[in-house]
Amino acid sequence: MSAGVAPPSGWGERRRCERLDERDWREASRSVVKVSELFFSIQGEGSRAGLPSTFLRLSGCRLRCRWCDTTYAFGPGRSESLAQLETQILTQGAARVCITGGEPLLQRNVVPLVDRLIAHHGLDVAVETGGDQDVSILPREAAIILDVKLPGSGMQQRMDPENLARIGSADEVKLVVCDREDYEVARDLIRGRLRGFPGGILMSAVHGELEAGTLADWILADRLDLRLQIQLHKHLWPGAERGV
Ligand code: SF4
Repeated sequence: MSAGVAPPSGWGERRRCERLDERDWREASRSVVKVSELFFSIQGEGSRAGLPSTFLRLSGCRLRCRWCDTTYAFGPGRSESLAQLETQILTQGAARVCITGGEPLLQRNVVPLVDRLIAHHGLDVAVETGGDQDVSILPREAAIILDVKLPGSGMQQRMDPENLARIGSADEVKLVVCDREDYEVARDLIRGRLRGFPGGILMSAVHGELEAGTLADWILADRLDLRLQIQLHKHLWPGAERGV
């Protein structure tokens, strides 16, 4: 972010969840969500890239990004209670949890688990969302990794535009670029609506469609202040589609 640019008001106005006491949690923990997979791996993206993390991938998504690499999460998934997921996550022993999808915020009843993992277990919880659902349902202490869809995804019109006003310094915006048009839209967004954003800005190239080196050249030529990311897990385990 440019030095000396004051963040505009309106960033990060998510509510702080009321803390669940044990009785509330016992009640909420019976709630069931549909799960695609739960695994322990290395975080491949964002400011947590390279850090061991537990991944909870929830099933279902209403978007159909042209380059989606987790289409297997569109299926119905298996039913798990929040109590079961709490146990499975703690069993992995990681300090970090990434809740992803599919679109995890389609299953709003997962929110008490997010709160429980943070407030009761002291874990770092990041929630990756495709951007079409209201992110303000999440507790302020959860890090939001918000996809902002670009034209090449085919889903740009499906975004909830209010979400950009709901994220703050603990959160990250993720821009996945498939061609020069996408890049220019992303660049204009960074220089416009995202100017002064206090969180992280991530940009990556669509695997197999745009060379990361080409994207790096564009970023440098335009002096964009952001984090270029490569999907680390795809380099560590090439060809693996699940569980990484
Ligand atoms: S939002 Fe995510 S899971 Fe849904 S189609 Fe797009 S890339 Fe795939």
